[in-house]
Amino acid sequence: MKIAICTLGCKVNQYETQAMEAQLLRRGHQLVPFEDRADAYIINTCAVTAMSGHKSRQIIRRARKQNPAAVVGVCGCYAQTDPQAVAELEVDLISGPSGRMIFLDDLEEIAAARLGSRAPQAPVSQEPMVAPRITVKNIMSTKIFEDLPAGGLEGRTRAMLKVEDGCVNFCSYCIIPYARGPVRSLPLARAVEEARSLAEKGYKEIVLTGIEISSWGQDLKNGQDLGDLIQAVCQAAPDCRIRLGSLEPRTVTEEFCRQISSLHNLCPHFHLSLQSGCDATLKRMNRKYDTARYYESVELLCKYYVNPGVTTDLIVGFPGETEEEFSQTLAFMEKCAFTAMHIFPYSRRPGTPAASMPGQVPKAVKEERARRAAEAAARMERRYLEQWDKVEVLFEEERDGLWRGHTTRYSEVRVRSGENLHNQLRRVQVTGVGEGYLEGEIILEKQ
Ligand code: SF4
Repeated sequence: MKIAICTLGCKVNQYETQAMEAQLLRRGHQLVPFEDRADAYIINTCAVTAMSGHKSRQIIRRARKQNPAAVVGVCGCYAQTDPQAVAELEVDLISGPSGRMIFLDDLEEIAAARLGSRAPQAPVSQEPMVAPRITVKNIMSTKIFEDLPAGGLEGRTRAMLKVEDGCVNFCSYCIIPYARGPVRSLPLARAVEEARSLAEKGYKEIVLTGIEISSWGQDLKNGQDLGDLIQAVCQAAPDCRIRLGSLEPRTVTEEFCRQISSLHNLCPHFHLSLQSGCDATLKRMNRKYDTARYYESVELLCKYYVNPGVTTDLIVGFPGETEEEFSQTLAFMEKCAFTAMHIFPYSRRPGTPAASMPGQVPKAVKEERARRAAEAAARMERRYLEQWDKVEVLFEEERDGLWRGHTTRYSEVRVRSGENLHNQLRRVQVTGVGEGYLEGEIILEKQ
């Protein structure tokens, strides 16, 4: 069968799509671009904002329009949180973010029933739509981690390794705990096995990813925690860079830093989710730390690493955020001296406590605050980039005649070179600083 997949959302969703793609290829199907006419379409949806729900619906409609007779299967977080809204969209199969392999079985079964009867070259006829098969489960009762070895895809430099699923933090603006359920962890031995196999496949970087990796091990109840996992994976793939997905500040303790800072191949880049630099706002967000505890984490990372890359996410214009609260956030950002930031105007997500909070901030004010925060972030990023002389870069791709890659501290680097630098680790002499990246020249090593 010709199958087209469209994925929205985070690294975990992309990872699960990679696993489905690998499985479909193993089952002899052909993967085709989403714009193509396919026998079946898979839409792996995202529910993180109202906009991602809207985009998911748009793509589902597009699939149906592209081939009215195709089998359309919808999975992922939006299908989990809003299955009825999806069911109104002429689809054949609706499943959540778990049970990915069963989802593929169901898709094949429906397709066999639909397509099997028709000779391949027979004109496609519109079959009367029957009610979709809905296999969305009560995600809150999911206990087992769905072990989906993705194994990475051809041509990729960096491989993701999903080690955790679910979240129980219930930040007041976030729908994810209702979409992904409780914490489930990939057992340490399995993570080590996967890391080894990715290294053998030639990947030079492995990203430990999950919905909330700081909670890794909580459900295993064997005393192991994220520090133990990182140590085991670094030792299992000593020639690979190991990079961490997003971390919660509570994870960064003296003991954690002491444990991981001895690992030579762990990238000194920490994406430490902040969301707000004002304690009152953090409280309304139901975040599990205050600015003092957050800053303690930044200080610890700077104590154990030289100039670590400390990046973050920030929500501006959260309900009730006053100009005074926002200025506290701006001041706290400067104090932390982030090396890069993702800044998001607050997006009201139906089904979350924050969506019905008083003091919703007008769109124009949110955008103006996002602009001011982005200006401050760009200044801090430039200050950080200007201090580098020579860096080691893992090159990923060539675009517009420039090879691009990242340092271990996750700064982007661009060089002009006639060589094929794909998946190459090379030392670069920095020659300049661009908008959020370093310019440089490959250092020709003496033979
Ligand atoms: S930590 Fe908070 S923001 Fe992150 S997934 Fe969990 S509930 Fe959502």
